[in-house]
Amino acid sequence: MSRILHRQIRTTLPVAVGGKGVELFDSEGRSYIDASGGAAVSCLGHGHPDIVAALHAQADKLAYAHTSFFTTEPAEALADRLIEDAPEGMSHVYFVSGGSEAVEAALKMARQYFVEIGQPERRNIIARRQSYHGNTLGALATGGNEWRRTQFRPLLVETHHIDPCFAYRFQQKGESDADYAARAAQALEDKILELGPDSVMAFVAETVVGATAGAVPPVADYLKRVRAICDRYGILLILDEVMCGMGRTGTLHACEQDGVAPDLMTIAKGLGGGYQPIGAVLLGRRIFDAFANGSGFFQHGHTYLGHPMACAAGLAVQEVIRRDDLLANVRRMGAHLTRRLGERFGNHPHVGDIRGRGLFMAVELVEDRSTKATFDPKQKLHARIKREAMARGLMVYPMGGTIDGARGDHVLLAPPFIVDEPIVDAIVERLGDAVDAALAGIELK
Ligand code: PMP
Repeated sequence: MSRILHRQIRTTLPVAVGGKGVELFDSEGRSYIDASGGAAVSCLGHGHPDIVAALHAQADKLAYAHTSFFTTEPAEALADRLIEDAPEGMSHVYFVSGGSEAVEAALKMARQYFVEIGQPERRNIIARRQSYHGNTLGALATGGNEWRRTQFRPLLVETHHIDPCFAYRFQQKGESDADYAARAAQALEDKILELGPDSVMAFVAETVVGATAGAVPPVADYLKRVRAICDRYGILLILDEVMCGMGRTGTLHACEQDGVAPDLMTIAKGLGGGYQPIGAVLLGRRIFDAFANGSGFFQHGHTYLGHPMACAAGLAVQEVIRRDDLLANVRRMGAHLTRRLGERFGNHPHVGDIRGRGLFMAVELVEDRSTKATFDPKQKLHARIKREAMARGLMVYPMGGTIDGARGDHVLLAPPFIVDEPIVDAIVERLGDAVDAALAGIELK
């Protein structure tokens, strides 16, 4: 009997004992293609010898030093690398241990920034429905996933949610992308005006939505319009790239493809590729300057900030990605995956949408393609797909239907950047079989 409080308490999980490249192995000798990188984490796959060597070397030298006493070589080197490759205007890095911590830190930076510059009345956070920003209380309050929030609502700081930019679910028939981008961005301006522009501190959005709606990229120009609105009212733009960032979409940062630079950006998952827990906030010069010229410190902190082992892993992962030109492979294999998914699911009676960017793709399942009606959440189609996929030696990341009708069951794919065509073909073939087997057990209305 397991003594761990697992997420699904009554489910018996296989025991993972090893991993090599795109595969994971369990204690029963079964192997699984890791087509989701866990949750978009394992960007270099498993057991990469260069990362293992870097971790050994760092453990030999120094495993831990507290950041109020010392800085360390791997932390400084990783910060230099991240700023060298960062969107315009970013000047400093704040290291944490994961995505939720990064979001918490970014929210507190935004708040402290306005206190430092003499605008303490700015406190309101605007974010979007069908979003996920983490499970700690501030991040949970910011996210718009009602299923995750409901029972904790009395503990959450007040936040304000607008509709996301989600073409499949919210773009109207006959509405052009340009008109839809304008309408979706207008929702932000309307909310700012409703709250009073001087009370708003930040707008928070995932550049490409991940864990709640499944690889939803914004339509062209949406984020440019959002950037302009934030600038018009002096509001900070926080882009959460914890899941979609660090190369997952084919460019290092997803927002490069939208032509915008945020004031604060959160990154995690692919930063350390799962070899160590690490996340970070990238911050712009004006925020750093406000702190440096004001109180002289950032009032925050955790014991494991800038952990040398975590930074050494992150640095090694980023060096391998650059050395092996893996972003080009993400773009190539992303195009191949998109093509293969289209061939397998394009005419499938229960696939409503195939979407994403790079190696960050999702397939949305619907009961009726013409009405986009979702499956009854009680049928737990996503859980059935996960079971069927695991039985076929495939790890994908399916998520459930919604309580507000705005999204259906979907399967998220985020394979390692090292995949080749035969692996992508095997992923799509196994997924196709798993989806059909799961649907065979579902009662249609
Ligand atoms: N933000 C986004 C966009 C995420 O996808 C996630 C994790 N799925 C988080 C924040 C939280 O990250 P973590 O689970 O590492 O705390």
